[in-house]
Amino acid sequence: MNISIAIDGPASSGKSSIAKCISDRFNFKFINTGLLYRLTTYISIKENIDFDLEEGRLIEIIKNSKIDVHSNYLVYNGLILGDELRTQEIDSKVSLVSSKSNIRRLINEILRSFKSENGIVMDGRDIGTEVLKDACLKFFIIADPDVRAKRRYDQLVKSGVDVEYNKILNEIEKRDNIDYNKEEGPLKKANDAKVIDTSNLDFQESVDEVSRIIVEYMIPKMEFKQVRVAENNGFCHGVLRAVNELDKVVKSDNDKNISTLGEIIHNKQIINYFSRQNVKIVNKENLDTLKDDRDILVIRAHGIPRDVEDVLITNFIEYVDATCGRVKVIHKKVRDYYEKGYDIVIVGNKNHPEIIGANSYCDYNAKFFFEDKLDGEILSDKVCVLSQTTEKYENFENAIKLVSEKCKDVVSLNTICDATYLRQRDAAQLAKDVDFMIIVGDKLSSNSNKLYEVSKKYCENSIIIERASDLKSDILNEIITNCYKVGITSGASTPDWIMKEVILMIENRTENNIKIGKLLRGKIESIDDKNLVLNVDENLEVILPIAEISLDERNKFGDTFKVGEYIDGKIISLSNSDGKVVLSRLEVFREKSLEILKEKFNNSERLSVIVKEDVKGGVIVEFNSIKLFVPASHLDFIHIENLNEFVGRELEVKVIEMKEEKNQFKIIGSRRAVLEEEKKIRENEIWKSLVLGDVVDCEVKRINTFGAFVDVNGVDGLLHISEISWGRIDKVSDVLNIGDKIKVKIIDLDRENRKLSLSMKVLQDDPWSNVDEKYPIGAVVLGKVVRFAEFGAFVELEPSIDGLVHISQISHKRVNDISDFLQIGQEVKAKIVEINKENKRIELSIKVIE
Ligand code: SF4
Repeated sequence: MNISIAIDGPASSGKSSIAKCISDRFNFKFINTGLLYRLTTYISIKENIDFDLEEGRLIEIIKNSKIDVHSNYLVYNGLILGDELRTQEIDSKVSLVSSKSNIRRLINEILRSFKSENGIVMDGRDIGTEVLKDACLKFFIIADPDVRAKRRYDQLVKSGVDVEYNKILNEIEKRDNIDYNKEEGPLKKANDAKVIDTSNLDFQESVDEVSRIIVEYMIPKMEFKQVRVAENNGFCHGVLRAVNELDKVVKSDNDKNISTLGEIIHNKQIINYFSRQNVKIVNKENLDTLKDDRDILVIRAHGIPRDVEDVLITNFIEYVDATCGRVKVIHKKVRDYYEKGYDIVIVGNKNHPEIIGANSYCDYNAKFFFEDKLDGEILSDKVCVLSQTTEKYENFENAIKLVSEKCKDVVSLNTICDATYLRQRDAAQLAKDVDFMIIVGDKLSSNSNKLYEVSKKYCENSIIIERASDLKSDILNEIITNCYKVGITSGASTPDWIMKEVILMIENRTENNIKIGKLLRGKIESIDDKNLVLNVDENLEVILPIAEISLDERNKFGDTFKVGEYIDGKIISLSNSDGKVVLSRLEVFREKSLEILKEKFNNSERLSVIVKEDVKGGVIVEFNSIKLFVPASHLDFIHIENLNEFVGRELEVKVIEMKEEKNQFKIIGSRRAVLEEEKKIRENEIWKSLVLGDVVDCEVKRINTFGAFVDVNGVDGLLHISEISWGRIDKVSDVLNIGDKIKVKIIDLDRENRKLSLSMKVLQDDPWSNVDEKYPIGAVVLGKVVRFAEFGAFVELEPSIDGLVHISQISHKRVNDISDFLQIGQEVKAKIVEINKENKRIELSIKVIE
């Protein structure tokens, strides 16, 4: 159940200790609000932030952090911080940080964001009025200044500090004055807060008072999962009436001196409550102290002996008779049969006040049947057998059997109270059906002890406790970890809320406290060669096997693990062979590693991994004990024939896929992603270094119809076919081969689109530059026929310079087919008739020189 509880109050009122105790009792998450201010200070120191000048930066860091606060430590971005937040430097700066209103606002926001399945309890300034305005329950703890001063004084003296009480009182009064009257955020009670005045309460009573209100609020809203409650339990009507009668007197007769003859009921909490209302307990020996007109005595449900009542009457002592009607019936029956000459046998404990009272009605001549034995001799042949109201029916039957063997006239009066009978019957039924029985009742209460006996008969795991805090952690742990079905009942003198408190303690732990995977932080109690024994919250002993410590930590064992220091671990077993909870550091390590992996995945960062094995389709690599799969296609740019050659190698990879399926992470890594990234970086550098017009060395990588792709220091460039040579090239492969190392000139550079155009021919002399000098018009040249076209034949005069003999200039004869006159490769003489240097054209004529 998600409940939020805000606890506020003046300094030294005990609010923090109460909050902590309530959190422990009901397994609520206790948020130590002060730790957040300490963390803020810690960050400002670590990051070297001046919080006056760089408040914004500090706020930004906190906003972007993952923080979880516990009672005495917090987790900051996966790092557990405890003692690190309690340094002197932080002590001296934390109040400055907490005085910044923007930081206070942010921290309040963070505090509001905390949730817990079991409930949250927070204490501190503004908690009820600002931070948890919508809290389900708010408490304002107060106590008189002198009481707070005394508590503080005692505390300091106990820890060996030499102090003056008056000085402490002055400080408390001064602090109250400042806190209640300051302009910004004065100390004030939230309108809907319940005020708990602890002036007359000890610490346990203060916690009980807060606890009672929480229990009453929560129990009706809860669905019990582990606990079953006996149908008839708790206050019987006799006890309820007695308590109500006394309460009535307390509330109506303020000026009276109220006393009870013996404890009103056998329950310490109720006794303490009335004691705080100044109700005194007297016994029959000091009744003579009640002489004042204002004295009033309340007689409890057990009743009193006849002679004691006579004393009250003869001494004119005012009294309220709260004797239970059923007890009064016993008194009457005893008297009636005694007067008829019957021996009276009472089944029960002769020292119990109810029996003493009944015995008085036969002038203290009763015999007793107790623990299967008859105490006293039966003298009459007529016997009346009665029973203590809380007796077990089985004992009553045994008594009748025994007495019937001794005399014939036996009157058996079953005076066992229904309330008792029903409670015992239901307890027995429940005990048969559960793994663990808890009887809540005072150990002095006869009926509670009887309930315990009945339960124990059917359920070996039966215990009797007086209050919730008696349910020690080892028992609680056993109940929770073994998932026991728990039966609960309570004695006729047990207030309802105490039993409910026990139920809440169990139910609020059932699902969420000790469970596999939970992170626990404990203090190292001892270390041996196999285990570390830790104590968690001073009430749970857990084991951390050395085998569950990471290799890294084992290597520096002595530095990391020292008795008295705190470490954390994840629960991997609820109960080992000794019934202890077992923790693992490896699992914490794994979780942290997983966090790192997630972060690296989100930020596309690289990580170093070790290849553990080759499997079908790829390899398994490991990062801090977490396994990743790297597909073969992601190992390199090229196909890897033998994956086994990678086993044992350290690689850099990137996480390219990470998803959770059925609580398992599927993580895919890629080395190719790293190689691609490196290539890109290299290319960037190369692109930056390339300059238009530069001549660079390169290697031919690929050839196609329009040119060749070459590698220039790692980037691709295009050498177009037209840029290879000044002359005509039919096929690139006629002039270039893959692997050829050539020199080229950068003739175009588009860094943005990564386009690099190169030229080889510009590095050669242009044969056309002085073509008119080399080949004057009118001159006759010798050339070689190199190709035909529809319109004529091309004749090579020199490499890269061809001249065209138009079809009309081949012969004086009519030329229908050029090949009838010329052959490819044939040397011919021709006359230069025209030169167009600009368009690189030479026109030749064969026929003019025929
Ligand atoms: S147990 Fe029965 S007899 Fe005893 S006080 Fe309660 S109601 Fe009366």
